[in-house]
Amino acid sequence: IIEIEEMHKWFGDFHVLKNINLTVHRGERIVICGPSGSGKSTLIRCINRLEEHQRGRIVVDGIELTKDLKNIEKVRTEVGMVFQHFNLFPHLTVLENLTLGPIWVRKTPKREAEETARYFLEKVRISEQALKYPGQLSGGQQQRVAIARSLCMKPNVMLFDEPTSALDPEMVKEVLDVMISLAREGMTMIVVSHEMGFAKSVAHRVMFMDDGEIIEENEPEAFFTNPQNDRTKLFLSQIL
Ligand code: ATP
Ligand code: MG
Repeated sequence: IIEIEEMHKWFGDFHVLKNINLTVHRGERIVICGPSGSGKSTLIRCINRLEEHQRGRIVVDGIELTKDLKNIEKVRTEVGMVFQHFNLFPHLTVLENLTLGPIWVRKTPKREAEETARYFLEKVRISEQALKYPGQLSGGQQQRVAIARSLCMKPNVMLFDEPTSALDPEMVKEVLDVMISLAREGMTMIVVSHEMGFAKSVAHRVMFMDDGEIIEENEPEAFFTNPQNDRTKLFLSQIL
């Protein structure tokens, strides 16, 4: 469902992504880890064109990402994204945060959008918070709202950029549990995360990025117990 071929990206003179090759099949779940500044966020932001690449190809569900705005819009409706800092609209209630996209982008009737929203709020186990504002919720609850908001757009792929790293430890599990159940339902997921337990239980492949390159990838068990590259070994020794 995602094909990235010989992709490069620069920020000015800075070569941030170098020859990225990555194929993700429908239903596959990938975890990306690596040191700060290695390009993990930039890579997944390229997949829904929050960042533009300069060389190579990115194809999502048969649609190539180019300057064509129609294609960019199409890809964005297929790809949901959850950020480290939730990015909810503070002046809208939880329910309004969830129905905004479906009503304005998908042209879904309001009643139907609200029904869908309530369905996903139940899924992420916060139905009772529907009429509150984001500022009235805990970090873990806000992140679950952000996940539900993405799901309301009925994406085929979900991208997560360190969804638990801004959370207090006691809230990490409630968010990971939601992500695990999403995984069990077969969602295609690319998750930037250093949560090794999560990677071991749901990832098909784990990738290690360093200095703009994917240096190593393997199935989780082998990746964690028997890393090949010295930089991977060093990184794992620091986080485990
Ligand atoms: P972290 O683990 O800290 O989130 P990361 O692996 O996600 O790091 P990126 O955010 O992708 O790293 O950043 C990769 C590099 O690109 C960093 O050196 C960063 O400073 C640089 N960078 C990111 N965004 C921009 C930008 N808009 N303009 C210029 N440089 C940028
Ligand atoms: Mg990042």
